Amino acid sequence: MKIGIAGGGPAGLYFALLMKQLKAAHEIRLLEQNSANATYGWGVVFSDRAVSFLENSAPDFHHDIKSNLEIWDKLVILHKGQPVAIDGSVFSGISRIQLLHILHEHCRRRGVELQFETRLTDPAIFSDCDLIVGADGVSSFVRQKYSAFFQPSLELRSNKYIWYGTPRLFDALSLIFRENRDGVFVAHAYRYNQTTSAFIVECDAATWKKAGFASMSDTESRTYCEKVFEKDLHGHPLLSNKSIWINFVVVRNRRWHHDNVVLIGDALRTVHFSIGSGTRTAFEDAIALAGAFERHGEDVHAALQRFENIRKPSADQLLEVAQKSVAWYENMRCLMHLHPIAFAYDYMMRGGKVDRESLRRKAPKFIAAYEAYAGPAREDRHSAIK
Ligand SMILES: Cc1cc2nc3c(=O)[nH]c(=O)nc-3n(C[C@H](O)[C@H](O)[C@H](O)COP(=O)(O)OP(=O)(O)OC[C@H]3O[C@@H](n4cnc5c(N)ncnc54)[C@H](O)[C@@H]3O)c2cc1C
Repeated sequence: MKIGIAGGGPAGLYFALLMKQLKAAHEIRLLEQNSANATYGWGVVFSDRAVSFLENSAPDFHHDIKSNLEIWDKLVILHKGQPVAIDGSVFSGISRIQLLHILHEHCRRRGVELQFETRLTDPAIFSDCDLIVGADGVSSFVRQKYSAFFQPSLELRSNKYIWYGTPRLFDALSLIFRENRDGVFVAHAYRYNQTTSAFIVECDAATWKKAGFASMSDTESRTYCEKVFEKDLHGHPLLSNKSIWINFVVVRNRRWHHDNVVLIGDALRTVHFSIGSGTRTAFEDAIALAGAFERHGEDVHAALQRFENIRKPSADQLLEVAQKSVAWYENMRCLMHLHPIAFAYDYMMRGGKVDRESLRRKAPKFIAAYEAYAGPAREDRHSAIK
């Protein structure tokens, strides 16, 4: 088969790798608009210690990723200056550029043709391909080009966020809530290598407006955020990497494929970063799509239909949790009066999928602390935010 892929993020690269692994004779060309060394942002986080969801699909790649992970075994929620630890939460992280470099190396080793600094502007370039994959991220050109068929919906959420780095090394996945005269802020902070942590600052629209970020320079924005999180940064600066304030865009598509064109990863749908699953979802799409071709050989239509049938139910479930998580952050201001333990408990309940007993099994120390504060069990599956 001849396969053309737009986008060299985790979804496109991993799909290329898996298809080449499936059949060395496949001719695969991947176009990436950026250079091999360019990346936005800082590090990605996975909600397990060993990215075990990658173990079966490409063991050698999994081995290389695993040996480069930073691992933390707790989540800390800091509210009113008091840290509350949620035990039993294991996470791992890696810098995005390192993840991409490992993917490049494995793609090259298997014979994928990688073309960097090449932006897809005309799908005719792939006219000789049996399969065209739109793995070109949240602003996907492929999705726009065939929008009449995919029928996408794009919803701009109201919170603003900005992705910084910092040399301050956080030893847990940390959610830090701070208030000032302008409103409420949260930082999502995690160390992803020996020298740097990712530090994503988020606030609601009213806070953003009142703080005046719209007219601030990069340095002014950083200085403002350094002041908000002064006690947490321990004198370390925030680092910018073309960092800008943006709104999260929820992407959905009514159809996942059209003729021999299919969307995967963020081009297909976005998963809010607060549930730490965007990169994982991109990988899982690649695994499911390659699995469909393993099953159906070169019958592109059957494979694309199978991809959608297999993948949609679990993806939809995750999206439901992600939407509730987005809404929780948009309304966090209403919860700031809560005691830190009650606040952390509400946070853990935000997705609506966890109840107290399942949380007790996962985080017995936290639930013991919560019950010492709030009293014994009452059935409460949901956050105060609906
Ligand atoms: C602030 C923030 C924090 C995040 N934190 C996490 C996290 O902690 N953990 C996690 O798992 N996920 C996280 N994510 C989500 C994660 O970054 C994405 O969900 C994931 O990278 C999706 O992979 P992808 O391959 O589909 O898309 P992308 O990684 O976006 O890759 C798409 C690629 O396509 C290229 N491209 C675009 N258009 C074209 C074109 N026309 N021609 C050629 N190339 C093109 C782009 O340059 C890009 O390299 C975060 C996202 C944000 C915004």
